[in-house]
Amino acid sequence: MKIALDGPAGAGKSTLAKALAKRCGYTYINTGALYRAFTLKMLDENIDIENEAVLLRALEDSVMKIEGDNVYLNGENIKDRIYTPQIDQNISKVACNRTIRQHMSEMQKKMARETENVIMEGRDIATVVMPEADIKFFVTASVEERARRRVKQNEEKNIFHSFEETLKDIQYRDEKDTQREFAPLMMTKDSIVIDNTGKTLEETIEEMICIMQEKK
Ligand code: C5P
Repeated sequence: MKIALDGPAGAGKSTLAKALAKRCGYTYINTGALYRAFTLKMLDENIDIENEAVLLRALEDSVMKIEGDNVYLNGENIKDRIYTPQIDQNISKVACNRTIRQHMSEMQKKMARETENVIMEGRDIATVVMPEADIKFFVTASVEERARRRVKQNEEKNIFHSFEETLKDIQYRDEKDTQREFAPLMMTKDSIVIDNTGKTLEETIEEMICIMQEKK
């Protein structure tokens, strides 16, 4: 079964997708990690993504691989370097770029084709990457709750970014993700909305598992 899981920043997509994948024995693919990996490269190497020739060379030079939580860029595991406020603040530029999106969605479509039972998480999975998905979850929560969760996640990694700043970053990313010209974040006609505001992780997992069982 192919499962698409889209939704805004901080909605709990990764935690849910990982938990579902573990419970069901599915492969978990986090496409946001690929956009984050390229954002890291852009910042590290000061790449001008507005220059098409430079950008194409940089994309060609980026061999990306995902294995569960581990994200490799040219052989280096960068998972601990891509979840930072600096990446959050710079990723929208990368995610709005048409050439980068085309490259990423081709790579992700191939991953989806090659994996039988998969839960793929992102912003455009149901609309672009895996429109043939058997289930299309759209996971969301109130923006305040999403910001509170992100502050907590950051603190666990010893990153201290205030609630107000985090809220502002999330609102900015939401706006860019939903308003961009190419592959904006949106629901499809057959999306199943999971609003987990005020719900525990377990309650949400159970709700999603029930839907998956009905579909089988
Ligand atoms: O899911 P995560 O918050 O890690 O994604 C980081 C950013 O990558 C998003 O805010 C979005 O701009 C971009 N993204 C995207 N399309 C995807 C996955 C992520 O544009 N399929």
